[in-house]
Amino acid sequence: MTGAMEYREKDGVGWLCFPEWEREQPWVRHAFSTRRGGVSEGPFSAMNLGFGRGDGEENVRENYRRFCRAAGFPEEGLVASAQDHHTVVRRVDRADAGAGIWRPKAWQGVDGLCTGEPGVTLVTYYADCVPLYFLDPVHRAVGLAHAGWRGTVAGMGAVMAARMAEEFSSRPEELYAAIGPSIGPCCYEVDRPVAEQFLAKREWDPEAFVTARADGKFLLDLWECNRRVLLSAGLLPEHISVGKVCTRCHSDLLFSHRAMGAARGSLTAMLCIREEGAL
Ligand SMILES: [Zn+2]
Repeated sequence: MTGAMEYREKDGVGWLCFPEWEREQPWVRHAFSTRRGGVSEGPFSAMNLGFGRGDGEENVRENYRRFCRAAGFPEEGLVASAQDHHTVVRRVDRADAGAGIWRPKAWQGVDGLCTGEPGVTLVTYYADCVPLYFLDPVHRAVGLAHAGWRGTVAGMGAVMAARMAEEFSSRPEELYAAIGPSIGPCCYEVDRPVAEQFLAKREWDPEAFVTARADGKFLLDLWECNRRVLLSAGLLPEHISVGKVCTRCHSDLLFSHRAMGAARGSLTAMLCIREEGAL
């Protein structure tokens, strides 16, 4: 039911994780939230972690407190993105702690976050788009990026790998990446103009992730496309995990824009270097 990811639950709060990262990368903590365990109601039920969607701010804050307590993230260290479907990556540190969650953030148009600081928890938002998790166990740095179709075709995964090289001297072959829950190849129909942008990426061998249908629409596999972007950036295939969890197929567990429309909550990906794991 949850693809190659595993479901964890504590105190009624549920989240998804990559079991190989739990096993092999104990210096980081990572999670993808689910709808379970929050206080929000109606279309936001129950674990809505998105501000400004029509849910009460106090509900969202209480959801963050419950989620962090259950999944083990230090709540004061949360730092949120400000996504607008571009590929800007921002490096954040301890001075940014709380930004976008407990206090306003000073940035706009940030779809990717990275840090080398333990206890700083990166937070990005989803309801069908693709979460890309990055870690560099050699230089002890992490990155988290939001890639919808626009970010995917713009090579967000490669942009993050390049930025981590710049900031932390991460070599591509040292990086590990994980592709989290999003709308899957089973459900992601797109029209010709979108499909053509992907088909133009000959270097990624697009026939592997764009499928034409008889009705003139196309099915797009964002997981496979992002995997190829990461390979083109020099990541090793054995360092790339693909969660294979479709948000639309599992809209009972996960918020899905295609399944629910705009009246819905938001999921988050979270990633941090554990403080007890600091070098
Ligand atoms: Zn599906």
